[in-house]
Amino acid sequence: MPSKDAAPLLSVDAVVSAIASSEEVEEKRRNRREAMRRWRANPLHSAKERKKRREWYYAHQKQLPPRRRKSPSNPAAQEKGVCGFCWHRPAITTCIRLQVCEESAEGFKEVRIHYCGDC
Ligand SMILES: [Zn+2]
Repeated sequence: MPSKDAAPLLSVDAVVSAIASSEEVEEKRRNRREAMRRWRANPLHSAKERKKRREWYYAHQKQLPPRRRKSPSNPAAQEKGVCGFCWHRPAITTCIRLQVCEESAEGFKEVRIHYCGDC
């Protein structure tokens, strides 16, 4: 006597149609895979895809919070006269770098950074 938990037996027609549908699904997958290969082989399409990915990457980068790192305009280090790049050697000069600044009209501002001259 079959238990109540066992899966119901399928009719031969149901098994045959399940196999046929799985073959149809395989065929459709194969066709789609080949179509995508042909689509990607077109240089125009791959260029579009690259552009879209680059735009997505930059949009994603803009949404990230600013990276935590030692600020080159760190007042304590500026007073000590330590190089703003390597943070080890004493600074002998300063150099100007651009820093992203959303308040300014250009979108960046100039920042003076102490520089050891070696790094
Ligand atoms: Zn340095």
